[in-house]
This record gives sequence, structure tokens and C-alpha cells, in this order.
Amino acid sequence: MDKQKLYGYLDERARDFYDLSDEIWGLAELSMQEYGSAASYLSALEREGFRVENHLAGLPTAFSGSYGSGKPVIGILGEFDALSSLSQKAGETAPCPLTAGGCGQGCGHNLLGAAAFAAAVALKHSIEAGELSGTVVFYGCPGEEGCSGKAFMARAGLFRDLDAALSWHPGDTNEVTTGSNTATIQYEYTFRGVAAHAAHSPHTGRSALDAAELMNVGVQFLREHMPRTDYLHYSILDAGGVSPNVVQPTARVLYMVRSDCVRNAKKLLARVHKIAQGAAMMTETEVTWRQIDGTSSIVSNAVLERLLDENLRAAPLPVYTAEELAFAKELAATYEPDGLPGQMTAFDETVREQVEALTEQGTLALNNFVMPYVHAGQMAPGSSDVGDVSWLTPTAQFTAVTWTSGAPGHSWQNVSIGKSSIAHKGLLLAAKVLAASAADLMERPDILEAARAEFEKKTRDGYDCPLEPDTEPDPAA
Ligand SMILES: [Zn+2]
Ligand SMILES: [Zn+2]
Repeated sequence: MDKQKLYGYLDERARDFYDLSDEIWGLAELSMQEYGSAASYLSALEREGFRVENHLAGLPTAFSGSYGSGKPVIGILGEFDALSSLSQKAGETAPCPLTAGGCGQGCGHNLLGAAAFAAAVALKHSIEAGELSGTVVFYGCPGEEGCSGKAFMARAGLFRDLDAALSWHPGDTNEVTTGSNTATIQYEYTFRGVAAHAAHSPHTGRSALDAAELMNVGVQFLREHMPRTDYLHYSILDAGGVSPNVVQPTARVLYMVRSDCVRNAKKLLARVHKIAQGAAMMTETEVTWRQIDGTSSIVSNAVLERLLDENLRAAPLPVYTAEELAFAKELAATYEPDGLPGQMTAFDETVREQVEALTEQGTLALNNFVMPYVHAGQMAPGSSDVGDVSWLTPTAQFTAVTWTSGAPGHSWQNVSIGKSSIAHKGLLLAAKVLAASAADLMERPDILEAARAEFEKKTRDGYDCPLEPDTEPDPAA
């Protein structure tokens, strides 16, 4: 179909999508507590005539909206959760919270969800007009920042029936995402001992705090003996109490293990479990553990990545006004950028040289160009629950510029810019690329076939869900 038509429709309706994004920015709800955001999306989907399903996988804020019928079925993934302690007034170039201690959209999920929704609405419009045939499904995916919502949805059997899934993420570059990332698993360990007066009767006490400390020491020694793909992170949730003259009867530690795939993350986790048991034995305390969440590594799909890259190059890039550039420059002056922008600049020398030329040695605050694309197998250090979707259907994603170049992730700067015309322009670009790529998939079965063949080859071992069958999402964790 004529992509100019898709672009034109999105341009015409742009204000509606900006308003939805701004509303979600204002709600800024934490993982698995996105009740207001989910309600806004559900009523918007109903208004647009989508068939809505709510409470997917038993999650109160997971939902979907479908339109059309028959094959192919293309999924578009939307997120909307925010981060704690990142409340920030919009359009300011200094940190100033809107609400003290409040939450903020530091990862731009207000834009992420609204652009995904906009793309789904544009596709619906074309299906309705008889220009495209197939089904589009918008997924409202809660709890990306915590709880790994998509892994719970994947465990419940969702995504498997899709022909492909597309997504995007706000960023400081216009760039197709390639390579893989890490699989993660989080467990909370609780030690229970016996309280006692630390001076009068220390011999009757059994310190849970000692156990937690010994576990952490044991894990530090494990670090030397892990594969290079593995990482371990921890935090102490409860040290027992504030009185040093008490033998602490309880302590809780949270661990996150990371590896290149779920299978290897589980192997590392088994070693951490043993260390916890050892620490309990040494201190004559008891230890129990429970899973908090987990995510799979990404299975990249070069066929879909190339399609996104083509559509990213074909879509009209935002043109920024002098005012927008001045604001971006002022905001970018509040941090030290960490090297050149773009994920591939860390991996590929040719890409690095090209980006150096494009950024004019980093003098532009907004990267108004498309990054060079090279399909890569490298493992990026982060993680995302999009990984779980990518084990169940061919999946690809990209970033569009909504932030200033080199902006730190999860920052007040990204909250500040999140309602600006700069962010809105990135939202619209992302919607155009998603809609145009999905339209290609509906019209070109050969692309879907090639994407499926690559997917089958890369997922021969099958999906190993990082979540245990009885793990429940815990928004308080
Ligand atoms: Zn994030
Ligand atoms: Zn994010």
C-alpha cells in the first residue's frame, strides 16, 4: 500500500496520540500498578473499535486490542509503566520534582505505548478501508521496569500465535536494535534466626544478619569462577533492625543473576542457592527463597531488523525548530555523555567512524539522522522482557529520538523532555515506522516466511521460561 497514506493518517490524528502520551506521563504509575494508564488505553481501544481483552495472564493491568481477521497476525507491543523517585516538571533544564518523592516516566514508556497504539490505529484504518488484510493486535504490557510483565504473559501462552511482533523504545538515536542482551532471574532470600540480648546472652542468639553477610561474602568469592557472560547483583532489603545490641532474628537479601540465556542463568542461580544454604548452616539459621521475576535474552531477527531499517530510512525524519534545539542544548549541558551514541558504536569500528562524521564530533544535542545498521550477535549488558516475546514469535525493535544525545537512562532529563514537541516528533516517527513495517508484513508473505525460518533456526532449543510455574508477580517487591 501507499505508505504516504499511512503517514498522512498519522499526521492528521497526531494530536490524539500526543494527548494520550501526555496523560500517561502525568499518571506515571509504577509496575503492575498502572490502573489509570490501562483504563485510558482500554477506553481508547474501545473507542477505535478494537476487540478488547482485559486481565491477560491474570495480570490486572495487562490487556490487548485486536482488529481485523485472519492471517497474518501482527503484534505491536506497548508499555506504560514509570519509575519511582523520578518526578520532574516538564520542560525544565534543572532537576525539580513535580511531586516530592513521586514517580516519573524516566524510560519514556508514555511515548512507547502511545506510538505503538498509534501504529495499531493506523493499521486498523487501512484494514477498514480494504487497503490491508490481516489482524493487528496491540498488547498493553505492564510491569516492564519491574515484575517482567511480558514473561508472565508468555508463560500464560500469549504471543505464540503471532506471525511477528514489533516494538520500539524511546532513545537518543534513530536506530534498529540488534544483537542480544542478558537473561535475568531475581530471587529474594530470607534468613530466620533467634533474637537475643547481644551482651547478656549472645550464645542463645542465632543471627540472620550474620547469615546474610556470609552469603554475600560467599557470592563475592563465586564471582571469580563464573563464565564471562555472567553477572551478579544484590541489595539488602532487611538487615534485621536498627539496634546493634540485639542479635538480629531476620534478614532479607535480593539477588539478580544474569547470563547469556535463561538456561545458563538458572545454572548460576543454583550456585547462589547453595551459598545461601551454606550461610544458613554456618549460622544455624534457616533460609527460604522465592522468585521475584525473570526475563529471557533477546532472539534477534535479521529479516525483521532489515525491514525496520528500510522503513526507518523511508519515513520523514523530524525537523527541529530553533527553539527545540536551544532547549535540547541546555538540557544536554546537564550531563556528561558516555561516548558516542548508538549501541553499535561500542561494537563496530566502521559504524563508529560513520557516527563520528554524522554527529560532527558530538556537537548536536539531537541526533537527527538514522544510525548505520549492521546485524550483530553481540550481547548488550541490559535486559528487557521483550526477550520473552522474541522466543515465541519473530520479533524486532528500534529506537527513535525522543531524548537528547547521550542522555542518561532513567533520568530526570528524560522525564523533563517527555512531554515536549521533540518527544512528540519521535513518537510520530516511531508510529510511522511501526505501521509501515507491519503493512509490509501484511502484504509480503515472503518476508514473514524468511523471518520465521530464521526464528525457527535460532530457537531450536525451545523457550525456557525464566519464571517458575508458581511465581506470582509482586508489585511490592
Ligand atoms: Zn527502563
Ligand atoms: Zn524502557
